[in-house]
Amino acid sequence: MSHSIPRVGFVSLGCPKATVDSEHILTRLRAEGYEISGSYDDAELVVVNTCGFIDAAVAESLDAIGEALSENGRVIVTGCLGAKSDVILDAHPQVLAVTGPHATEEVMQAIHAHVPKPHDPFVDLVPPQGIRLTPKHYAYLKISEGCNHRCTFCIIPSMRGDLVSRPIGDVLREAEKLAEAGVKELLVISQDTSAYGVDVKYRTGFWGGRPVKTRLLDLAKALGELGIWVRMHYVYPYPSVDDLIPLMAEGHVLPYLDVPFQHASAGVLKAMRRPASAENVLERVKKWRSICPDLTIRSTFITGFPGETEADFEELLRFLEMAELDRVGAFAYSPVEGAAANALDNPVPEAVRESRRARLMAFQEDISTQRLEAKIGREMTVLIDDVDEDGAIARSPGDAPDIDGLVYIPGADHLEVGTFAQVRITDCDVHDLYADLLQDPLPR
Ligand code: SF4
Repeated sequence: MSHSIPRVGFVSLGCPKATVDSEHILTRLRAEGYEISGSYDDAELVVVNTCGFIDAAVAESLDAIGEALSENGRVIVTGCLGAKSDVILDAHPQVLAVTGPHATEEVMQAIHAHVPKPHDPFVDLVPPQGIRLTPKHYAYLKISEGCNHRCTFCIIPSMRGDLVSRPIGDVLREAEKLAEAGVKELLVISQDTSAYGVDVKYRTGFWGGRPVKTRLLDLAKALGELGIWVRMHYVYPYPSVDDLIPLMAEGHVLPYLDVPFQHASAGVLKAMRRPASAENVLERVKKWRSICPDLTIRSTFITGFPGETEADFEELLRFLEMAELDRVGAFAYSPVEGAAANALDNPVPEAVRESRRARLMAFQEDISTQRLEAKIGREMTVLIDDVDEDGAIARSPGDAPDIDGLVYIPGADHLEVGTFAQVRITDCDVHDLYADLLQDPLPR
């Protein structure tokens, strides 16, 4: 049956949670201009939202799919029973697509594939990757909102609430669209990237019809398949992060970790109530580097947190000396209205907070420079950010945009922004690298 406005039939089974899923899908259908059909023969396809709670519900769901198939013939299955796609496909191999519960995006994708979306002159002006504020060749990919921690200097949880992970299917589809639109580097961000999926118990989602767990490792593996740079930010040093390092060593995702350590003294970390504060961070960093020698580690630190003694601060300097982090940012503690840390004893005078910050940065400068010097003579792939009359300005795998350094390639003013090039590092200063062009541009 063909109408000028496409019509979709809907069968909703199961509990109130399934009803809410149905409502989301129906809302999206109406928002996109589809009509909802009340009969099988008037619809161009039928969505069946199933229940899989008990045997009787499974039987009812399979019957409903069978009825929709015999009455209409084109059926998309979603819902709890959809999580067991083999049960559905064994009984009804002719269904068009199967998704699990809470999969509005997947269902909409399947509907679009079989009954194209009606043209909307307003919405269709928006590019599929959405509107971005970053340059065309890199983009931030937010994987969750909120945070389950309660660091005493931070008020984010009180503003944004506990961790809510985005469904992995949605995240991966967004990443895919960005890659298709020409993005060459994805910057994975959240408040606590290592915790991705904890709130949904690492629920299985779907991407391109295949199951993927809502978990950082699975996300990194899937993003690595897109063939573009993937950079991880705000990763806490939990043991689970160890599993990411081999992916970095194999070049699947960039050998780069942005780990906000904030301090090294156990007492200060405890007062800060930092996540993973009990982990042996130095050992962990050593282990990561033994697996992935090219790993760049960036971190930030707070100086002069309430109760920080000179001994605590010196412990932090000793940590920096041993950890040999590549990039470090430091902030003098400043009280945020509403933060629990404001009530802590022994506040550190502002002048001391500032002077410790300056001491830390001066101390780290040599370490960062040595890390860059070790790159002189090496060949690497860089991503071109800008071109001016002196040449190209790029970033290496160890440089995130805006916060890290740059790679200057004199004379390479013919390169195009957003392409990869192969260079040999010839020199460095405290922040940046200088390089000769070896080959350009690299297809990727
Ligand atoms: S981990 Fe700590 S600092 Fe980061 S958002 Fe959560 S509470 Fe704030």
